[in-house]
Parts: sequence; C-alpha cells; structure tokens
Amino acid sequence: MTATGSTVDRRDFIRVCTIALASIGLPYAAAAEIAQAVARKKLKPSVIWLHFQECTGCTESLLRTSHPALAELILDLISLDYCETLFAAAGHQAEAALQKAMKDNAGKYVLVIEGAIPTKDDGIYCQIGGRTALEIVHETADKAGAIIAIGSCASWGGIPSADPNPTGATGAPMVLKGKTVVTIPGCPANPYNLLGTVLQYVTFGTLPALDDKGRPKFAYGRTIHEDCPRRAHFDAGRFVQKFGDEGHRLGWCLYKTGCKGPATHANCSILNFGEVIGAWPIGIGHPCYGCTEQTLAFRVAMHDTVDIERPMPPDTYPPIRAAQGHISPIATGLAGVVGGALLGAGYMASRKLGEKPPSEEDDPRKET
Ligand code: SF4
Ligand code: SF4
Repeated sequence: MTATGSTVDRRDFIRVCTIALASIGLPYAAAAEIAQAVARKKLKPSVIWLHFQECTGCTESLLRTSHPALAELILDLISLDYCETLFAAAGHQAEAALQKAMKDNAGKYVLVIEGAIPTKDDGIYCQIGGRTALEIVHETADKAGAIIAIGSCASWGGIPSADPNPTGATGAPMVLKGKTVVTIPGCPANPYNLLGTVLQYVTFGTLPALDDKGRPKFAYGRTIHEDCPRRAHFDAGRFVQKFGDEGHRLGWCLYKTGCKGPATHANCSILNFGEVIGAWPIGIGHPCYGCTEQTLAFRVAMHDTVDIERPMPPDTYPPIRAAQGHISPIATGLAGVVGGALLGAGYMASRKLGEKPPSEEDDPRKET
C-alpha cells in the first residue's frame, strides 16, 4: 500500500511527515490526516522551480537524503510542473511547459527560486531561453500564489554575491520588493525546512510565521549556539585553541576557531543533514560558518570570531553566586535550578580532566 500512489509507503510517509510537523510545531496527529489527504489526491499545488546562479546543491541535498522518502514525499505533495534540473524536457518544450503551468494555475502556483539573481548590466549574466533571470523571476512571481526562496543564494545572494560580486548578484526578496518571499537560507538549505513550509501551505493554505528576513520562525527562531551539543563546554570555558589539539579531539567548543553559532539563526543543531546524526559542520568538528545569515557567510572570514548574543544569563535571573555572608535560601535554590547546568558542567568537566575550573581569563569575550 502506498500513501500517495507512489513508492513511498504509508509508514515512511507518516514518519517523515511527523519529523517535519514537529519542526513547525504542529501535532503528530496531523501526519495521518495529511497522508489521507495526499492519498485522496486533494493536495498537489502546482510548483514552478526556477534555477539561476547557483551550484544546485539545495536540490541535490533534497534528492540525496539517506532516506529517499523525503524527496519522494515532497514530490508527491506537489505537482512539479517546471524544474530545469529534474525535467526530461528541454529547450522549447520546457519553455512551453513553464508558460502552460503559469497560465493554468495563475494566482495559485508555488514559485520556488533556487540561486541568486544577477542585476548588473540589466541582468545579462544569467539568461534562459534568451530572457534574463530578472525578467523570468518578475514574470513568474507576478502570478504566483506563494514564493519560496530556497538556499542562501536565492535568499540574499549567497556565494555569487561575495565580494567583488561582479554580476551584481542578489536574492529574490531584494528583486521582488513589496512581495512576501519565504526565505529558507542555508548552504544547502535543510530539506525538512522546505518540507515543513510546503506541508503547512498545502494543508492549511497559510505560510508559517516569518521573521524580519522572511525566514520561518519554526526553523530560524533560535541560534545554533542555544541548542549546540558543545554548549556545555562553552559554558565551562573549554575551547578548542587550534584544529587537531586535545580540546578538538575531545569535542570542546569551537568558538575560538571562528564558530559563528552564537550569531546564526538556524536549526541545524536539532535537525542534522541527510538524516544522519552528527552530519552537520559542528558535528564533524568544524565551526559553524553562519550560512543562514546575510551578514556572516561569504562576508566574515571563516575563522574570525563573532560577538555573542546573550553571552550570560539575563540580569533578571537570581545571582548564581550569593555574596558571602548574605546567602538567601530562595536565591540559592533558584540559582541551583537556573545555574546548575552552567556551574555543574564546568565543575564536572574540570574534575574529570583534572584541571582547575574555568577562570575569567577563559572567558571567550576577552579574546580579540
Ligand atoms: S545556497 Fe549553497 S548549496 Fe544552495 S544553491 Fe547556493 S551555493 Fe548551492
Ligand atoms: S560557539 Fe559554536 S561550538 Fe561553541 S557552543 Fe556555541 S555553537 Fe557550539
């Protein structure tokens, strides 16, 4: 039996749906409802998927998941009416398919844009069928029901826009000013973030809540640093000083080697890539590069350090260390709950490794 009439069986379908639904904050029970709706062919919005200045890595990361159900699921949820990477058609046939999809589904289709758009010299540096990317994106966006920019290139320019940016490459929101563009940055974007957005749109006809850069809050509402598995080492003041040192081998915090996690909003630390646990940069021992932030990736040098948002508990928390002679049982109790992980991690780590607890000199903010 298949949930969708394709090779995805119902168990796989519900499993993948459940992961995506959990990431957008919808109840698990919705997965079964969506499976039924897909089986009845009730969902299937037309999707036009455009490719411009890019490496196609975002499409590849979607198609090459270790569990193929994810790509099949997305392709089952939608009717992919135009996609240069996956199309068998080419040339005039492909152009005709694009025009037909736009005409038949005007005002309803989902436009997915992958890749940056060159704007310099009237956009002549990227042309398809004799028309510039600028012309194509304006024409297709004007009749779209929803617009999604997938990957850092489409979201704000990504690699093609790195200095000196000879083609004037930029992202879809900058070209389509005044229109709502959902951005799913990442290099590549995590396919589950696309799936969560598409699931919400096809099931409820709405877009997820977005931040001021158009990113869905369900995926980009927190920093990598907030959910990083190495966070206890940061709090304990244990930092890799250089690649290959003892701290690196022990899995300590990568802040001093240039980790951008404290200033990068994304859910990579929770939803790893390819459905392989630990398959993300910090998981394999490299600092976060900040690829979901327009001001970081391809702008700030890879191993430069960044400022830390909220480096310490807010002032409103009870003091972690009570002043000598003024110990309040309430404050101490609350501090035990709030600061237990902070102090406990440092104390236990230092005991385990036979070193002194971290001092103020270990504070990364003192690093220049
Ligand atoms: S965002 Fe990165 S992975 Fe995606 S198309 Fe651009 S360069 Fe490739
Ligand atoms: S600085 Fe980077 S490696 Fe260290 S805890 Fe934060 S996100 Fe993780």
